[in-house]
Amino acid sequence: MGIAWIRSGATVLVASFLAITSFAQAPSKPSPPTQTWITDVTIISPENLDHVATGTVVIEDGRILRIDRSTRAPKPPAGAVVIPGKGQYLVPSLIDSHVHLASVPGMNSDQQAGKSQMIEAYRRQLPRSYLYYGYTTVVDLAVFSQKILQDVRQSPLHPDVYDCGESLPLANGYPMSFWPAEQRFKQFPNFIYDPAQGDKIPAEYKPEDHTPAADVTRVKNSGGICVKTFFERGFADNFKLPVITSEMIAETRRAATQSNLVLFMHGNSFESQKFGLAGNVDVIAHGMWHWKDRDRSLDNEPQVPAEIKSTLDEIAQKKIGYQPTIQVLEGERVYFEPEFLNSPAIAKVVPKELLAWFRSPEGQWFGNEINEDHLPAEQFRKIYDEGPLRRVRQATAYLAQKDANFVFGTDTPSGPTYGNLPGLNGYLEMQQLHNAGLSLTQIFKAATINNARKLKLDAQLGSIEPGKTANLLLLSKSPLESLDAYDSISTIFLHGKPIPRETVAANAIQ
Ligand SMILES: [Zn+2]
Repeated sequence: MGIAWIRSGATVLVASFLAITSFAQAPSKPSPPTQTWITDVTIISPENLDHVATGTVVIEDGRILRIDRSTRAPKPPAGAVVIPGKGQYLVPSLIDSHVHLASVPGMNSDQQAGKSQMIEAYRRQLPRSYLYYGYTTVVDLAVFSQKILQDVRQSPLHPDVYDCGESLPLANGYPMSFWPAEQRFKQFPNFIYDPAQGDKIPAEYKPEDHTPAADVTRVKNSGGICVKTFFERGFADNFKLPVITSEMIAETRRAATQSNLVLFMHGNSFESQKFGLAGNVDVIAHGMWHWKDRDRSLDNEPQVPAEIKSTLDEIAQKKIGYQPTIQVLEGERVYFEPEFLNSPAIAKVVPKELLAWFRSPEGQWFGNEINEDHLPAEQFRKIYDEGPLRRVRQATAYLAQKDANFVFGTDTPSGPTYGNLPGLNGYLEMQQLHNAGLSLTQIFKAATINNARKLKLDAQLGSIEPGKTANLLLLSKSPLESLDAYDSISTIFLHGKPIPRETVAANAIQ
């Protein structure tokens, strides 16, 4: 596809030369805005899959002006940029509605000290890596640093960034429980007050300032489009974390609805997803890899148990947004896949200094931490494959059969893992979803129109329709025929601006 690009690049030069000439001859006439014509291309739009056709898409001022689903489209006007799409496919660009832009994959905050150059290089590449895999819209679900989001928004080429503001954990619950008691309230100032734990909450925080309604208002005022809360009892052997009550989720629901914010809830267990369903959340932000329900463990049931099926049935029926995030688990498992870091795809999304650090003994720290018992790699992988990965795939497969409302989100990075890299993680998550039983159509819709609708951004995004933002991808393969179409991008259109894919790779020749 490089050849097609060079040809259309030449057209750009000719077009701007003509524009300058005509301006010189007739300075009084304002020149019409430059149009971009993507001609003779197969148009695949998720709301219109019954009418996949070859035709022309016209872009003007960053928006889709017109679509001609016929090969006899009128000739482009003089001065238009023409991008020949023959043999290629045009799709809406992708939306990842679960990312964490401030976290550096593979590193904890202590390790970041003294590596400012390495981290700056990573942060410069971060928005480009999302674009490299076709993501022009991302949603950060838990803002720790408005400055980092601002930096992404101000970088020369970047996806549009939306966010859920500061998240709403329960006081001393997940995830603030990971921080030392004296730091966690400063890290999570938008926590929900828990009257049952008055003695464990610093006196400077007043209950009336930390009701769910007060927290939601803060998110709204910070410019968020969504709110994120959590239901998580814990990990490994510790399941004693405090969790939100039905009253708290009900108040959060009411406040989010009043403020027109989308309500996301973290939950990866049967119990938590049943709770989210009852609380009528908009999106469940993980797949179901824990089948434990309070005292009884269903984790060893070989198939999805009937009682879990009935919860999943309701999640599907109510069209609650669902993000399986299978790569959360794979992101841990890859520390025991010796070849993972050698994949050429990784050098496309991570600068070489950071990649070299991942390979160093220090860079392996997270793998050592999650494998406390020093199990051989094969055995570690087997535990994941037969345990949480099996369960999340089975639950996801069941939801796929029921045509649940999948909204594509990766949780990149889900923890301090180098197994969840920006952009690439989306492509890997799609492979996980496909292996778990989602059809190519389900995946395509999840990453485009389903996301746009659930996020209430569908007036602008999610399909190829007149008036929408010209965020598009030109592919050499069809995403309805194979998943590797998402790795066959030749051009990313970002608000109408064509970006040749290889120019945003981490190892692009600058
Ligand atoms: Zn997350």
